[in-house]
Amino acid sequence: MITLEEARAKIDEAVKSLPPVRLPILKTVGCVLTADIRSPINVPDFDCSIVDGIALRYDDLNGVGPWRMPIQSIIAAGDAGSEKLLPGYAVKIMTGAPLPPGADTVMKIEDISIENDRTVIGNKTSKGEYVRARGDDVKEGEVLFEKGTVMTAVDVGVLASIGLVEVEVIPHPRIALLSTGSEIIAPGEKLKQGRRYDANSFVLKSMFGGNSFPVDLIADIIPDRTEQLETIIKNCLDKYDLLITSGGVSMGDFDYIPDVVKKLDGEILFHKVKIKPGKPVLVAKIRNCWLVGLPGNPVSVITGYHLFVKRIIARMMATPYRPRSTHARMADNVTFNGTRFGLLGARLEESSEGVIAYPVKGQNSGRLSSVKGINGFIMLEVGKTSVISGETVYAEWLY
Ligand code: AMP
Ligand code: MG
Repeated sequence: MITLEEARAKIDEAVKSLPPVRLPILKTVGCVLTADIRSPINVPDFDCSIVDGIALRYDDLNGVGPWRMPIQSIIAAGDAGSEKLLPGYAVKIMTGAPLPPGADTVMKIEDISIENDRTVIGNKTSKGEYVRARGDDVKEGEVLFEKGTVMTAVDVGVLASIGLVEVEVIPHPRIALLSTGSEIIAPGEKLKQGRRYDANSFVLKSMFGGNSFPVDLIADIIPDRTEQLETIIKNCLDKYDLLITSGGVSMGDFDYIPDVVKKLDGEILFHKVKIKPGKPVLVAKIRNCWLVGLPGNPVSVITGYHLFVKRIIARMMATPYRPRSTHARMADNVTFNGTRFGLLGARLEESSEGVIAYPVKGQNSGRLSSVKGINGFIMLEVGKTSVISGETVYAEWLY
């Protein structure tokens, strides 16, 4: 059985990035740009006013004030503003409206007064004030984002501001979630003898939501029958880049996932890792599709997601992968089995003395409720069988 380190190394070595595609900008958060993005326009595209006020020609403020100037017109945001400013005149202008040709300065409405059709200016301003020059925000041709940038929500706004609709990125993988097990039924259905509700696809879906992953998720419950598993998985191969199954990877008579992988000419990267919980995890490649076969026990699904799924997705998206980690001080004593690398669910809380870890009591891979409320895991090296209150441990945030 391989160690966690070895499993991670195998993933890093084998999982390659997805081919680039053009995506609508709203779908690019978290994605890597595959080319520099140059702005096709100036932003703003015209000299405009930063405030509501009046626009004038500075040199018309001759001698000593107050100055009285007739108001030539009113320019709203969205107007073309092509009418030339007459000598000695001012225009009323709104925030974001274009300066008329000839105007070079804006005064705030609060700093002037309007009498009949004239503006009265008591104090002189400085030339060019309250004007946002063409290209002040972004210049046409400027490289705004370099190839390799990982897009953020704010960056999406910047792309929209230069009028782009799509950009080329390494996309998010198309993900299918498949809960396998003849005993599994969907919440909402009537519970029958021998059945249990599908918690796994729900916890996984929510986990993706929590990480702002705009992934396509299909959740399907599949019974433990080789032909059915084979057909459904085969159908997924062209539509998805990553299949996450739960159940059917252990030693049971009906644990068919490894067989199905072989039947579909898939290659197993590894099966079983020296971790607790989640040992039976299987990672395989079938054609261009990666399959992560998580064990059915719901706590193992969570640890498998944290250790392997996040890492594989990062590899596919060509983004650097670093789990968000911390040193935390234990709030309680815990004992652990120590035969494998351990993940112990914990509530990690920031405090003035650093992060405090409140470990779960009685964690068991089959008891999902034992980990309710956790937001991270304490990681325990092989051989570590107890941790005492006050001890500093290494922990990773789940979200
Ligand atoms: P398996 O890995 O298929 O042997 O399943 C291990 C345990 O996890 C069994 O008790 C299953 O009933 C349970 N299990 C499998 N799939 C799910 C699921 N989607 N939701 C909740 N429990 C599950
Ligand atoms: Mg099963």
